[in-house]
Amino acid sequence: MRRKLAAGNWKMNGTTASLVEIEKLLETHPDPACEMLICPPATLIAQVAWRCRAKHLKIGGQDCHWNTSGAHTGDISAPMLADAGATYVILGHSERRTDHGETDAMVLAKTEAVWAAGLVAVVCVGETERQRDLGATLPVIGGQLDTSLPAGGTADTLVVAYEPVWAIGTGRTPTLAEIAEVHDYIRATLVARFGDEGTGVRILYGGSVKPSNAVEIFAVSNVDGALVGGASLKATDFGAIIDALSAA
Ligand code: PEP
Repeated sequence: MRRKLAAGNWKMNGTTASLVEIEKLLETHPDPACEMLICPPATLIAQVAWRCRAKHLKIGGQDCHWNTSGAHTGDISAPMLADAGATYVILGHSERRTDHGETDAMVLAKTEAVWAAGLVAVVCVGETERQRDLGATLPVIGGQLDTSLPAGGTADTLVVAYEPVWAIGTGRTPTLAEIAEVHDYIRATLVARFGDEGTGVRILYGGSVKPSNAVEIFAVSNVDGALVGGASLKATDFGAIIDALSAA
C-alpha cells in the first residue's frame, strides 16, 4: 500500500513572512490521511524544519550538489540539507534542467548523494510540448528514467514525479487518459528495473495542479499524489489539494 504524498515546491518564493502559511497548514491539517511535504527555498529550510519537528509536515530541499562538500560556491550538499532538517530532496526539476543545464547523469549523481545522506529523492521527469507533439513522450520518459535513476531504488528512498514541461506553471494539463498512460508506463518501468520495490515507489503528477482539478487527477491510475508549484504557496489552496488527496 503506497502512502499518498502531497508535495509543495515553493521554488524561489518565500521569506520569513511566508512562515504564516506553514502555521496555517499545520493548524488546518493536524492529522491528514496523506503525507505532506513542503520544499521551501534553502534559506527557510532550517527554520521550517525546526517548527515542524515531531510534526506531520515533512520538509525538503529543491536541489543539491552531488558532492558532500568542497569548492562549489552557491551550492548545497545533501548532508547539509539533512543537517538543516530536510528529509526529501527534489532532483532534476525541469527548471533546473533548463536554467542550469542539468543532465540525466547529474541527476543520477545527485540521487546517489541524496541516498548516501539518508534522504528521499523526488526525481522529476517530463516531456516538452514538442516531444509530445512528435509522439515521443514515452520514449523520452523511459530514457530519463533509465539514465537518471541509479540502481537500487526502493519504495522508501525514491519518489518519481511526472511533470510535463509544458504543463508547469501554464495552467494547462494533459488529459486524464494521457496522465494515466504515462503513470502506468512509469510504474511498469520501475517494476522492470527494481522488482517488488518498484511497486512501492510513489509516482506524483506535477503541472498546474490546483484545487479545481485535483480530485479528477487523483482518481487516475498510478497517481500517488502531486508535486505542486504555484498552488502550494497558499495554505488554503494547498490544503484543498491535500483534502482531495486524502479523500482519493
Ligand atoms: C512544479 O514546479 O513542480 C510545478 C508543478 O509547478 P505548477 O504547479 O505551478 O505548475
